[in-house]
Amino acid sequence: MTSRMMKYVLVTGGVISGIGKGIIASSVATILKSCGLHVTAIKIDPYINIDAGTFSPYEHGEVFVLDDGGEVDLDLGNYERFLDIRLTKDNNMTTGKIYQSVITKERRGDYLGKTVQVVPHITDEIQEWVVKQAKVPVDDDQVEPQVCVIELEGTVGDIESMPFIEAFRQFQFKVKKENFCNIHVSLIPQPSATGEQKTKPTQNSVRELRGLGLSPDLIMCRCFSALENSVKEKISMYCHVEPEQVICVHDVSSIYRVPLLLEDQGVVSYLSRRLNMPIDAKPGKMLTKWKEMSDRSDRLLEPCSIALVGKYTKFSYASVIKALEHSALAINHKLEVKYIDSTHLEELEEPVKYHEAWQKLCSSHGVLVPGGFGVRGTEGKILAINWARKQKKPFLGVGLGMQLAVCEFARNELGWTDANSTEFNPETKHPVVIEMPEHNPGQMGGTMRLGKRRTLFKSSSSVLRKLYRDAEYVEERHRHRFEVNAELKSPFEDKGFHFVGQDVEGERMEVIELDDHPYFVGVQYHPEFTSRPIKPSPPYLGLLLAAAGKLQSYLLKGCRLSTRDMYIGSSTSDSESSN
Ligand code: GLN
Repeated sequence: MTSRMMKYVLVTGGVISGIGKGIIASSVATILKSCGLHVTAIKIDPYINIDAGTFSPYEHGEVFVLDDGGEVDLDLGNYERFLDIRLTKDNNMTTGKIYQSVITKERRGDYLGKTVQVVPHITDEIQEWVVKQAKVPVDDDQVEPQVCVIELEGTVGDIESMPFIEAFRQFQFKVKKENFCNIHVSLIPQPSATGEQKTKPTQNSVRELRGLGLSPDLIMCRCFSALENSVKEKISMYCHVEPEQVICVHDVSSIYRVPLLLEDQGVVSYLSRRLNMPIDAKPGKMLTKWKEMSDRSDRLLEPCSIALVGKYTKFSYASVIKALEHSALAINHKLEVKYIDSTHLEELEEPVKYHEAWQKLCSSHGVLVPGGFGVRGTEGKILAINWARKQKKPFLGVGLGMQLAVCEFARNELGWTDANSTEFNPETKHPVVIEMPEHNPGQMGGTMRLGKRRTLFKSSSSVLRKLYRDAEYVEERHRHRFEVNAELKSPFEDKGFHFVGQDVEGERMEVIELDDHPYFVGVQYHPEFTSRPIKPSPPYLGLLLAAAGKLQSYLLKGCRLSTRDMYIGSSTSDSESSN
């Protein structure tokens, strides 16, 4: 393995998981990028699954989809959103992928009859993967990255992550000290709000890390309120680091503040010295934008509520909620997501839940039906779509949400009362949504229509096309097995329900829009995956604008916000387009 000048930053976790390691790792990457460096990220998930494609949304939350069709951990979304980059499936390493690769090599005879072992074969494979993947360009300019942030899931000491820790123990010597550092994210519990900040769990986890051969260069301490000096000194003394290497990451008003918090404590100048990177440590223009976003987010007053009609937990709609947040922030509104379990809209068996669900729906400014799988809850979603259509409430249907909008219209406007997707009723006389020919039943992982595909706009009067700044086509990410039955589309068009976006062959219906409605849009693709804090996704932006009563003026002004709502110093073109 050659020692390139690539700088590697390994982020490990201590004490407990779920304390924001992904946000901290993304924030470190963001401040380095703000200094003009090209930064990439690798997320390591030490589970045996090959990828997140077969995960249940109930157990694991959202499956994040990449341009290349990779179905990955939702943390990859943090890196893409924070850094405004595009990752590939190999930026998500799993134990399953590493073993699969080693076993394939073993079957091919690559190991020349040797016994294949965790050390050195698995650990070598991990290191080779990192070196190779770190070089893959992730920015629009296709320049090879200079820094690679590697986030190791879980906490130090987990059985699953041992081969990875061992791989990096070896790696630090191979790539040389000035090219590798470790950030350890730990928790400082404070048993009562006024009580003492406790350092013992951090001391223990750092000791464990050192015992495995890695030494933290920065200890990032998650805590409720700012670290007291005496506590910082104590961590410095017991964990054998300088006080400047102890970084306080206390709770802040929004995640946009985390990069600023790290920058304020000299993280960039420390890393530039430690990794021998001659960089301008002053925050660049990019960080100024984060400051602006944080300040704006703290000042938001005017509410805009969106009913999110799904059936999984809120956690499963992470990117959808982020996309809504980006759009609300862009138009200066305080987002309120009213989560509704669609099964509660269905029947009166549980009258309290039924009434609560309908009350939430009716009091929202806009309705969003996201993607999903399986029949449960679909009838409730159809009822919500029917309500939004008839009451002229702004509506966005994504994936399944779009497919159900087609079912709803067929049933209630075309009189095809049994219209359905064959996913839910294979016997229906009106199969308005059907299985795609390439779907391969039996094999579960990676068998859907996945990743970035082109959608052409068929009509220049399409609202969505205007929101995409009059683009002739867009390239968004997909994840589906079923599609609108194009053979049945004429009766829809005759009644003002238009298929305004189609795939390049004109065979797949990708975007629907309804006449005489403030905003009734459905997309087969998932625009939430490419939404960025300062570049909100157009279909989501349209929903928020319509819900806030600002869509018409926005369109009339040629897709410009009022000066009051615009970001200071930003041209509208870089605040709204996502392509
Ligand atoms: N279950 C539907 C399909 O497979 C919708 C999937 C989705 O929402 N992306 O086509």
